[in-house]
Amino acid sequence: MAKIVPLFSSSKGNSYYIQGNSSAILVDAGRNLKQLELAMSVNNIRMSDVGAIFVTHEHSDHISALKVLLKRYDIPLYASRGTLEYLINNDKVPVRARLNVIEDVVEANGFEIHRVETSHDAAEPCGYSITTPDGRRLSIVTDTGYLTKDARTAISRSHLAVIESNHDIDMLREGMYPYILKKRILSDSGHLSNAACDEALPDFVGAGLTRIILGHLSEENNTPHLALSGAIDALSQAGMALDSDYIIDVAPVATDGKSMFF
Ligand SMILES: [Zn+2]
Ligand SMILES: [Zn+2]
Repeated sequence: MAKIVPLFSSSKGNSYYIQGNSSAILVDAGRNLKQLELAMSVNNIRMSDVGAIFVTHEHSDHISALKVLLKRYDIPLYASRGTLEYLINNDKVPVRARLNVIEDVVEANGFEIHRVETSHDAAEPCGYSITTPDGRRLSIVTDTGYLTKDARTAISRSHLAVIESNHDIDMLREGMYPYILKKRILSDSGHLSNAACDEALPDFVGAGLTRIILGHLSEENNTPHLALSGAIDALSQAGMALDSDYIIDVAPVATDGKSMFF
């Protein structure tokens, strides 16, 4: 049995702790080290338990804790070449950090981690599809304007998936954001809407996905209720029943002490 602890999720900061057997990895390190460690302590876990850190892309809500974290803890960091180059060139990681390029797949601490293609306005963004030491599979796909074929395949093969459900399109269109920001979020290299997420869910559950975490919700252009009810509606229209065919939750902006086993 493996578990995921969503520590932070929103444009303020993102981080997921994944544990399998006795080892653990972290995907993304947003907010700051103090807040990350506090969020971990709420869940009775510690940074010293983390064997490797994987970063999806260089936007600050995914990396802002990194520099201090990697100075204090000797944990190897994995990311795409483009992301690592950005982090080095912009002084976002300490000079002596243990940096590793993930081309396609790596093994770290008993986990097998595959890159998943995303579409986002960053240097070389990606999601991750992870097999835990005990053979459980999860995918984390957020910060993507649309679900790529690669992402759809990875999620379909997973037991659990964190999928972006960023915004309600009407709330975003009618909201206060400047036009240029609205255009960016709605573009193919922006963020995934509730509708785009919901459209894909029946295929994923039909393929065997049983645990869904909706992630990276916008605090301005979405609500947990809206994201959840849209997803449950889409799945029930496809004949799939909550709590028997699948379970679903929203990743909180900051941890509420809950984790999901898979
Ligand atoms: Zn983000
Ligand atoms: Zn981003």
